[in-house]
Amino acid sequence: MSYSPYALVEKMSFVRFGGTAEELRAAQILLAQIEELGGKGELMDFTIPQSTCKGFEFTVKAPFERQVNVMPWGMCDSIPAPGKDLKFLYAEKCTERDLLGKDDLSDTIVMVNALNQDVYKLLVARKAAAIAVIMGKYYHNNLEAGIYARNMRPAMLKLAAIPTFYISAHDATELVRDEAALIHVQSELVNGETTSRDVLAVIEGTQMPEQSIVLTAHYDSVPIGTGSWDNATGSAALMGIYNHFLQNPPKRTMRFVWCGSEEQGLLGSHAYIAQKADLLESIQFCFNFDMCGTILGPDMAFVTGPKELQTFVELYCREVGRAMDIRTGVHSSDSAPFADKGIPSIGLSRGTQSSEIHTCRDQIFPVGEKPLLKNVADFTAMIDRVVNAAMLPCEKGMPDDMKKELDKYFQREPAEKK
Ligand SMILES: [Zn+2]
Repeated sequence: MSYSPYALVEKMSFVRFGGTAEELRAAQILLAQIEELGGKGELMDFTIPQSTCKGFEFTVKAPFERQVNVMPWGMCDSIPAPGKDLKFLYAEKCTERDLLGKDDLSDTIVMVNALNQDVYKLLVARKAAAIAVIMGKYYHNNLEAGIYARNMRPAMLKLAAIPTFYISAHDATELVRDEAALIHVQSELVNGETTSRDVLAVIEGTQMPEQSIVLTAHYDSVPIGTGSWDNATGSAALMGIYNHFLQNPPKRTMRFVWCGSEEQGLLGSHAYIAQKADLLESIQFCFNFDMCGTILGPDMAFVTGPKELQTFVELYCREVGRAMDIRTGVHSSDSAPFADKGIPSIGLSRGTQSSEIHTCRDQIFPVGEKPLLKNVADFTAMIDRVVNAAMLPCEKGMPDDMKKELDKYFQREPAEKK
């Protein structure tokens, strides 16, 4: 069956945010493609958080009056009508020193450059009433700055659900320049759940069917841009790999997972692990594909596993004469939850600094038909050496330094780990 990965990227280049009808439409395109190739796929549903904003207000009250077009984060607490007048504090990196002498922020909205777990902990401890997070460059409008509704992540919600807003760097600059002092804030969220889904397909192994390799690529996108590079390309590459092994049956079983809702916190791969817990013992290895096929840029491999695995990738590159940017560590994509279960993982990718993801600029232009085909061929050749190997490149399990990185990545204190 002839298959064109680029044509699939074209077909999937539309907003397909996890849990929406468009994500379901993308899943059905993948299912139809699997069947057209002569395979069989299925959907696996799972529940994800969903937050709807019923309205908000963000108006500077003193020393001047100005409405600012911010974007509330989902799953946070509401500030119901009539809202609150809050003092405005710009805390740059929000270090202990930035907050010196500000032990009680229960009447203050704090504006920060970035909100990570450490910053959030400090703000929770000081009971901040609300948070504004700066996005983009000063010359971006809200769309270009990548401002869209995102849910606060569970690790943060565990501590508190402080009402949080995105503000563009442009508006943030004006607020600080004009010495905004008091802001009226209101926000009404309805927090609930909705359904997202993974697309699954399996190719049984011919010689070692009890051992399996999982191959993942997320097919959802953020709510802006067409998600062509991130990650219609990886989804289409995974389909090309599926097509190859349908025609060339592997020795080990291959489990293909097109993950939903990756952009909302790797929810599709977490759901697979939760619902297919009985398979985990048989899964020996994970390949993940997130962003590839760009015309410019280096090929990359993200290796999560023991030292031998990095050596395997290096030797493979020497054997076939390929240049690859090889990095060891946690890949922030759907392979991470598998690595967290001690499954050695390789993330394959091709990227360029000249394009963007998670913004309205993620369009098909930087993606090329030939580079995508070349990625599929190269990925297939590397996977072939694993799935058909007499012995796998490494044993299951993670070295201690990698376990620490995974703890950090999943924002876990080491003691919390099961
Ligand atoms: Zn991605």
